[in-house]
Amino acid sequence: MVFCTINDFPAYGNLSGYSVKGHHACPICETNTSFLQLKHGKKTVYTRHRRFFKHYHPYRRLKKAFDGSQEHETVPNPLNGNEFYHRVKDVINMFGKSQKKPSSDANMWKKNSIFFDLPYWSNLHVRHCINVMHVEKNVCDSLIGTLLNIKGKTKDGLKCRQDLVHMGIRQVLHPISKGPRTYLPPACYTMSTAEKRSFCQCLRSLKVPQGYSSNVKSLVSVNDLKLVGLKSHDCHVLMQQLLPVAIRGTLPDKVRVAITHLCFLFNAICVKVIDPKQLDDLENEVVVVLCQMEMYFPSSFFDIMVHLVVHLVREIRLCGPVFLRWMYPVECYMKVLKGYTKTQHRPEASIMERYVVEECIEFSL
Ligand SMILES: [Zn+2]
Repeated sequence: MVFCTINDFPAYGNLSGYSVKGHHACPICETNTSFLQLKHGKKTVYTRHRRFFKHYHPYRRLKKAFDGSQEHETVPNPLNGNEFYHRVKDVINMFGKSQKKPSSDANMWKKNSIFFDLPYWSNLHVRHCINVMHVEKNVCDSLIGTLLNIKGKTKDGLKCRQDLVHMGIRQVLHPISKGPRTYLPPACYTMSTAEKRSFCQCLRSLKVPQGYSSNVKSLVSVNDLKLVGLKSHDCHVLMQQLLPVAIRGTLPDKVRVAITHLCFLFNAICVKVIDPKQLDDLENEVVVVLCQMEMYFPSSFFDIMVHLVVHLVREIRLCGPVFLRWMYPVECYMKVLKGYTKTQHRPEASIMERYVVEECIEFSL
């Protein structure tokens, strides 16, 4: 029985037949995805996590701290399998790239997935799982890139500040023109050089037990004050335990508390034994933390991967603990399969032949 499928996010879109790009990129919120098209950054961002609160929550009434308006909307329940099936059952599958593109709304459901041939498939609430490994890596990358202001990875910048001017919020962060140069006032989430140095040195001086993580030292570049070559598991270790330690004593209290809280939540999401009674509280806390991040971090920080964090607890409730359905074991096995490649010319065929041979030998011996 196929219980659910696990993929990274673009493959999720291909497999499920739901378009994970554009304005309605979240496959769980679907048409209710709240998006914002940034004028200068030219990005689509997914903010307004206050919608996930109950009606009376005080955060809903705040204006200045968020996007300048109060929040009155609520989020309806996600579609169940049968409702989803009714949307896609009439879609005609068109393969290849030559097809005409319909309008953006009609384009959200791209195909009638072959999985719906399974008799039970439309009864499943979660058919395709969000892969926590990739979500955690992407959130960690954006977070560290923004904190250390790493060029190319930071979500902050001139365009982001111009968007703040356009939206008319956070006046203190607006760019200031000084002759030919433009000055960007430091934000609460940007570390000073001394703070960056202390962050990097903290990570560099770490000693961990064997097998706990890869060599953290090799990831830190103290000269450039940045982290380089972070792999998925490095991000996992950082988010689970190391980041809250490394940022101690740096950043304003409120920002540090929000980041530390986010790390604790990832820790709580990834535990192996979960008490179902605590899931409601956990779900609320995720929304609180995302709202706090919205208060302090720029809008461009909230790409679809940050938004997906809000749905992780729902999937735990419906599908069980995360460690049973994330991609670490799959990625490990990929290394074995990669080792089967003998010719670079046709790697897949090479992998397949050697895999079949190995299966046969194991079976016959
Ligand atoms: Zn969503």
